[in-house]
Amino acid sequence: FPSKQAHVQTTIFTKMSQLALDEGALNLSQGFPGFDCSEELQELLKFYSKGHNQYAPMAGVPALRNSIAAKTRAFYGIDLDANSEVTVVSGATEALFAAIHCCVFPGDEVIMFDPAYDAYDPIVRLAGGVPVHIQLKASEGFRIDWAELARKISPKTRAIMVNTPHNPTGSVWAMEDLDAFAEIVKGTNILIVSDEVYEHIVFDGAQHASVLLHPELRKRSFVCGSFGKTYHITGWKMGYCLAPEYLTSEFRKLHQWVTFSSATPLQYALADYLKEPAHYLGLSDFYQKKRDLFAAQFAGSRWKVLPSAGSFFQCLDYSGITDEADVDLAVRLTKELKVASIPVSVFYETPPTDRILRFCFAKNDDMLQEAAHRLAQL
Ligand code: PMP
Ligand code: GLN
Repeated sequence: FPSKQAHVQTTIFTKMSQLALDEGALNLSQGFPGFDCSEELQELLKFYSKGHNQYAPMAGVPALRNSIAAKTRAFYGIDLDANSEVTVVSGATEALFAAIHCCVFPGDEVIMFDPAYDAYDPIVRLAGGVPVHIQLKASEGFRIDWAELARKISPKTRAIMVNTPHNPTGSVWAMEDLDAFAEIVKGTNILIVSDEVYEHIVFDGAQHASVLLHPELRKRSFVCGSFGKTYHITGWKMGYCLAPEYLTSEFRKLHQWVTFSSATPLQYALADYLKEPAHYLGLSDFYQKKRDLFAAQFAGSRWKVLPSAGSFFQCLDYSGITDEADVDLAVRLTKELKVASIPVSVFYETPPTDRILRFCFAKNDDMLQEAAHRLAQL
């Protein structure tokens, strides 16, 4: 049987989570909260699981699209038309897939920055597109070199995929980055797929630099969001895509063939829950405390704590400890110390020689302290 994805393996998240389970290890690998969503949200779901159990409208139930638009107005000061610019999908993964597939023609180039979230490259290839990888450097804080991006643009460039706050490094864009990016795409017909699933997890008082905030960027962007990260419900697989009408209409043509529509009772529960800003405004502080708690345990150890300005990931450089490849070390630490992590090299087309592991700190404080305690002994 000829495989269409011969080079594709099981994702690193599945592999490491399974290994953690097999080894009885503390699982700081796959990014998901180690605690439940609020009881209020559980109650809403229970309430809406009566009488709301048939297909939702293809684009999402109007109540949820209105709530997303209202939240976008409240948080970013941006007015979106809930009917023509907001689509509810089954997780940001679907949003990324549909965004790329609705606009990339065979042979089109799509630029992405490594380390890149694992889904980007395969999604582009499945669409017949050609991924063009630009490598970000740990020594430069994984910041984008805008001049290098400008050089990589060709007449075949159809789209650029961006991600802030960034998985796996936790780097974030500053507002000036939006201007620099806009200067590059201005006057072209390049589209942007902006992965903003960690929009509400930004530390040290910084503001999330959404492409929505820049008219030059917004008019050409698919903004992919996920409720999983913000409300501790990664298992709900609920997300959305925000895009101008001319892009949304194409996006929906894809969405209707991928899932058609997303789970109805979940949409109604979220429509109510989103109305309360307190449900997302405190998230940065909540996770910043966890970041600080985890990072503090490595003081005086041979691990080097890299900056994490957003997301719920902390990267640690272990070059002062061993020369082992990160893939090997992640497995060994899961087996020996019973702490699972993600090797960062898997997010590159051509991995650099960095020695970095990613740890998810969306866990209870006890678990973070215990995991760090075990690691710091190395
Ligand atoms: N993009 C990034 C950067 C992510 O980290 C994740 C998942 N953790 C996704 C997309 C996918 O989100 P979802 O689970 O809503 O499909
Ligand atoms: N986004 C999560 C992470 O980075 C994993 C999601 C998945 O397993 N597909 O760990």
